[in-house]
Amino acid sequence: MSTESPSSGLRALLREDLRAEKPYGAPQLTVSAALNTNENSYPVPDEVVADMLAELGEALPTLNRYPDREFTSLREALSAYLTRSGTAIAPDQVWAGNGSNEVLLHLLQAFGGPGRRAIGFTPSYSMHSIIATTTGTAWTYGRRSADPERLFTLDADSVAAQIADAAPQLVFICSPNNPTGTAVGLDVIEAAYAAAPGAVVVVDEAYAEFARPGTPSALSLLAGRERLVVTRTLSKAFALAGGRLGYLAADPELVDLLRLVRMPYHLSAPSQAVARAALRHTDTMLSTVGAVKDQRDRLVTELTSLGYAPVPSDANFVLFGGLADAGHTWQGLLDRGVLVRDVGIPHYLRVTAGTPAETTAFLDALAALGPTHR
Ligand code: PMP
Repeated sequence: MSTESPSSGLRALLREDLRAEKPYGAPQLTVSAALNTNENSYPVPDEVVADMLAELGEALPTLNRYPDREFTSLREALSAYLTRSGTAIAPDQVWAGNGSNEVLLHLLQAFGGPGRRAIGFTPSYSMHSIIATTTGTAWTYGRRSADPERLFTLDADSVAAQIADAAPQLVFICSPNNPTGTAVGLDVIEAAYAAAPGAVVVVDEAYAEFARPGTPSALSLLAGRERLVVTRTLSKAFALAGGRLGYLAADPELVDLLRLVRMPYHLSAPSQAVARAALRHTDTMLSTVGAVKDQRDRLVTELTSLGYAPVPSDANFVLFGGLADAGHTWQGLLDRGVLVRDVGIPHYLRVTAGTPAETTAFLDALAALGPTHR
């Protein structure tokens, strides 16, 4: 299926602001090391699969009925999980959707739209601007530091000034940031919030569980900030990308407003059942996080030894620079069975931290390409 080249007649019927757009999507290829979408490489453990099957067994005979629209028991499980981080989050502060992408869509549907503007800080997760566009929300490309010593970081003063200039209704700060791996300090979030008194500030923490010690979550800032939202997902650390379950924490009133834009019964009963079972096994599901972080740190060390320039990462991937031609290296790696991501930053590629064997396959393939690729 392709929407690349609809007949010109259909293209003419498309909304004007979508006519130049390309569909989002990383290649889904069968390779020995798929390190391009920041999934968790470890399969769901057998004991969790067994519990998921038991939950599904209960849910399936009742599929003649619509699911619990308010996903009550799932909300309770998500609130208990977030509360483990040290900040009490009540069930009515939690919202969920089919992946955090859908949660982001709900935020843009509710608080963006025609005549409204959102800002994010480039390079960052491209779906923020894509979802903004699909909801008719104008987008401002904010900037990150270009100083080689602090490359891709954000500081409070610069963020506040850029937000004040753009006067947006929504601010997106991704921490740890995809594709750079950069986490921001809480001072940056506080400054963004103060600089945008009329905006909802969204902190996308899809990769929070991989952060190095001392990187605080914006969950700790929620109390007393009714316009602050923290989004999370089960797709990364929880190894449940195929389950499609993302969520957010925010003020109960903001959460309540999202009910205006969601489709009725948007979370299917099987989705709720699978996510509930996964959360019941939180420790098991998160047991691979330490191993993934080890591979992330190994990638940084070994890429440096090979003469490349990896960016320090708090996520489960590493962006590395120093490539003569990123597209050429991407193809060379693929020819050797290793799929990484060309995120469109000249001379950089992004590689996901997977199993030790996958890291070895990637590093061997890169070394085999030789120094002409640097
Ligand atoms: N936020 C960020 C920063 C991401 O990188 C991703 C996935 N790549 C998502 C959100 C969306 O993930 P999901 O819809 O699977 O929760």
